[in-house]
Amino acid sequence: MARQEFAADFTMTNESNNQNKKPTVDHDRIEAAVREILAAVGEDPEREGLLETPSRVARMYAELFSGLHEDPAVHLKKCFTEKYDEIVLVKDVAFNSMCEHHLLPFIGRAHVAYLPRGKVVGLSKIGRVVEVVARRPQVQERMTETIADLMMSDLDAKGVAVVIEASHSCMVIRGVRKPGSECVTSAMRGTFRDNLSTRSEVMTLIYGGRK
Ligand SMILES: [Zn+2]
Repeated sequence: MARQEFAADFTMTNESNNQNKKPTVDHDRIEAAVREILAAVGEDPEREGLLETPSRVARMYAELFSGLHEDPAVHLKKCFTEKYDEIVLVKDVAFNSMCEHHLLPFIGRAHVAYLPRGKVVGLSKIGRVVEVVARRPQVQERMTETIADLMMSDLDAKGVAVVIEASHSCMVIRGVRKPGSECVTSAMRGTFRDNLSTRSEVMTLIYGGRK
């Protein structure tokens, strides 16, 4: 379901991109490159099983990197005035992204908390922000900070805390080969950075009840 919603959004963004003449994904170029890689590793790109592979990979990359052509901030535009000034936490937002060093997926969960300053945003919008930022060639550290800075500036929040846990294919299937390892990154802004007890509170909310 989430995927369908996302697809609808992407089409919309694509149309506005065309108006702004921003570059979009060049399928032909990806196809040519994939054929080239197949040949380079010693395969025959004309082999029956591989004939459709370049176009399949092109469509896949268009999907996985669609966040390059979207502005995550659009999802934070619609806010509601609320007196609520305690922590708002959206936990376990599942995402998949692509490690920009190896072009291999890293898959995990994001926990995003903020302390509102009179403005709250729809909870599902936070999931959208994570999705857009994830769908770019990424490193987990930058992804964590991008989400935190965006929430901080666009919601005018008193504080933002983002914790991301992910398993990186590039650590599991190649190199050091460490299946089961997880990378955890966090970005604390405003009150979460300055106030130890507020930070402890959010970490308890994120990890509380988990073994
Ligand atoms: Zn990597």
